[in-house]
Amino acid sequence: MNDTDVLIIGGGISGLSTASWLVQQGIEVELWEADARTGGKIRSRQESGYLTEQAAGILMNFRPQVDHLINQLHLNDSKVLRSKTLKRHIIHQGKLTEMPMTIPGMMASPLWSRETKRHLATEWLIPRGREPQESVSAFIERRFGREILEKAIDPFIAGTLASDPDQADAAAVLPRLTALESRYGSITAGILIHKIFKRRRVNNAEAFSFKNGMQSLTDALSESPGIKIRRNHKALAIEPTKNGWRATAATFSGEHTIRCKHLVLCTPADISAQLMAAIDKPISDLLESIEYAPLAIIHYGFDPQQIKHPLNGSGFLIPGGEKYAFNGNLWMSTLFKQRAPDGKVLMTSYLGGARRPEQAHWSDQRLHQALQQNLKQLLGISGEPEYQRIDRHSQGLPLYHGAYQQRMKQLTNKIESWRGLHLAANYLGGVSVRERIFQGLQTADKISLQLCHQQQVQPLNPPDGLLQI
Ligand SMILES: Cc1cc2nc3c(=O)[nH]c(=O)nc-3n(C[C@H](O)[C@H](O)[C@H](O)COP(=O)(O)OP(=O)(O)OC[C@H]3O[C@@H](n4cnc5c(N)ncnc54)[C@H](O)[C@@H]3O)c2cc1C
Repeated sequence: MNDTDVLIIGGGISGLSTASWLVQQGIEVELWEADARTGGKIRSRQESGYLTEQAAGILMNFRPQVDHLINQLHLNDSKVLRSKTLKRHIIHQGKLTEMPMTIPGMMASPLWSRETKRHLATEWLIPRGREPQESVSAFIERRFGREILEKAIDPFIAGTLASDPDQADAAAVLPRLTALESRYGSITAGILIHKIFKRRRVNNAEAFSFKNGMQSLTDALSESPGIKIRRNHKALAIEPTKNGWRATAATFSGEHTIRCKHLVLCTPADISAQLMAAIDKPISDLLESIEYAPLAIIHYGFDPQQIKHPLNGSGFLIPGGEKYAFNGNLWMSTLFKQRAPDGKVLMTSYLGGARRPEQAHWSDQRLHQALQQNLKQLLGISGEPEYQRIDRHSQGLPLYHGAYQQRMKQLTNKIESWRGLHLAANYLGGVSVRERIFQGLQTADKISLQLCHQQQVQPLNPPDGLLQI
């Protein structure tokens, strides 16, 4: 006799969204979270009138399944949309430079040399790659040339994924672009075909947050009726049983053990590796091999009179060749309303990552000194910020480095051999909140189908399928 159908370990967005999709299908779910709060990395803070995010700050969505979940959670009215027309910038030769976001815009931009424009126009003539595994740098350089890699892709990969394009696995990090190449033989031709046939929903992507920040999403998920959440439950051990799994947690009142039919590990890779160590060493070793980038996130509140730049955009990213102390800077109060007190501005900068992991461990004083010196030069800032806060993550984001896709395939194949065991966390299938929610649905559907044979459970029909590119 099992105590619950499904036990989920880990109460970040991966665990919470999986739990929510499961209860929507009438499946009994218990979720254990080691911490006193759920939400994991996602946390929004209101301090001195500024609203800051310690991890995800923007949900970039083109998946109807995510819209569906937000609707279910009654969060539509608190959505705050980012304007689609905001400019994006990169640092080019020490100056903020507008980044064109369309192919015609790129062709007209002074940012790119004639050689790069020619490369772009003739990309469709370049044959498909033959290497089974390629880094992001090799893939982009082969298709678009070195300049696109250095000025567009490198800052994007370092600034949004904390990753290193020379080491990142193209198939894992840029799955849509590599799929376009393998399907159509060309990225530009593939984009065009998708545009003509209106199959590319990325065009309809919506970027948003919530009035009270991204934590509104994890809070709403945590409050969804039907999920039995146990906070301060740190999973210590798991083991297979005849009919499923048994798990033990450390709690304030001693150890707590339950049995379940399905067990979903939504914990960071090293924690899942520890839990798997006694059961399946090769799985544990594969999990253990996943590296994470440390990050420091610095939030500054200013009086706009202290800043020469109008902050009329979403912020800027920094190519590795530009030699600044940080990877990117988001103008949060321009992106979303009510992030700063009236008449003030809020900006958030990202330091560390795979590019310069040591920076994430610098003292507060050293971080402020390096960043403020750079911001002074780039944005014409004078004086000290009136509000400042540093958030740190020793394991910020998993790095999809090396032959990542291949290793993850091995991992998922091995997991398949354990009946009722599932992995759903941001080292598999994408780090973004959108992909976490989507993967949660996939995991829930798989469990639901398996339980269907034993129980009369109706699998959820998610909104219409997407072309997965
Ligand atoms: C600085 C930063 C900025 C980001 N910006 C964006 C963005 O703008 N947009 C976007 O889409 N994404 C963004 N992301 C990515 C996104 O925030 C993360 O990928 C996502 O929140 C991770 O969710 P998760 O549930 O997989 O992991 P986590 O949030 O790490 O959750 C894992 C949970 O497991 C719990 N746990 C650990 N051990 C145990 C145990 N033994 N027993 C029980 N529970 C345990 C932890 O306490 C934690 O709550 C950003 C990430 C970072 C770090």
